[in-house]
Amino acid sequence: MFCALDKKITYYNDKTSLTKTAWFHVDMDGLDVIFQGFGKKYSGGVDEFYITAVENSLSFFKKKNITATYFLIAKDLNEPGKLSSIKKIVKCGHKIACHGYNHRSLTSLSSKEKYLEIVEAKERIEEALGIKCLGFRAPRYHIDLESFDLMSETGYKYDTSIYPNHKYHEWFPEAHIQKEPFLLFKEKSFYEVPLPYVIPMLPPFHASYIFYLRSFYFKTVLYFFRQYSNCLTYLFHLTDFATPHNIKCGLKLNIFTNNFYSKSTKLNFLEKLTDHISHHFLITTTEDYLEHLSG
Ligand SMILES: [Zn+2]
Repeated sequence: MFCALDKKITYYNDKTSLTKTAWFHVDMDGLDVIFQGFGKKYSGGVDEFYITAVENSLSFFKKKNITATYFLIAKDLNEPGKLSSIKKIVKCGHKIACHGYNHRSLTSLSSKEKYLEIVEAKERIEEALGIKCLGFRAPRYHIDLESFDLMSETGYKYDTSIYPNHKYHEWFPEAHIQKEPFLLFKEKSFYEVPLPYVIPMLPPFHASYIFYLRSFYFKTVLYFFRQYSNCLTYLFHLTDFATPHNIKCGLKLNIFTNNFYSKSTKLNFLEKLTDHISHHFLITTTEDYLEHLSG
């Protein structure tokens, strides 16, 4: 495992730093929540898409010597097939963070419902897996101040839902949103780990989009990103790794799930992306980076 601490790297938060650091995240959206996002109900039984994606991602990260952070939806612990996949992730030494209890958009929920998605989800994950769950990513990146308060008061160390763009500056006018990890609540040592953002109107350059926009777009955007940021949060979804399945859900959903690519095409392409990132950035985990940052 590449660990920043092992390499005795000093982190700087200014543009003169020569040390660029990256970490990999995987959002664990299964077919049930993907269908839900399209206003449909998944009724296909055991989610082989989810299970093969976890298997493929674990082999991939092992081959690339990468430790990643998987953002888990807590209700998936209730499904035996998914649970055994999740346990394999823990056994392989990856970090587990939270992606809600039911993958609901936080900004449309009552306080009680937010508590379930953020606090009870964390407790459920920690109890089921015997690990510490330190990070959170809001479904659809919809987040608010009440959710930040809940996280900081209940033992989370970081959130990673914000793009440092105009929209989030408007949502949180009192916050000093930065492009690199920053303290949201200084006294609580609670960090925001922003997602990569380059300029308005361009689609994100996380892997799910890059399958269609191809590596020229990825390399160009990453080049510009590197000019002003020392830290990269690179986001995968399970769809990036899943073995294609016959999902009877229409063209749009098949495109969204990258279901037209073979397993080997996907993994070869992901290998090019991660090799390129590893060439320009020191690879660590968000958890190790923040531990180092907070001393
Ligand atoms: Zn999600």
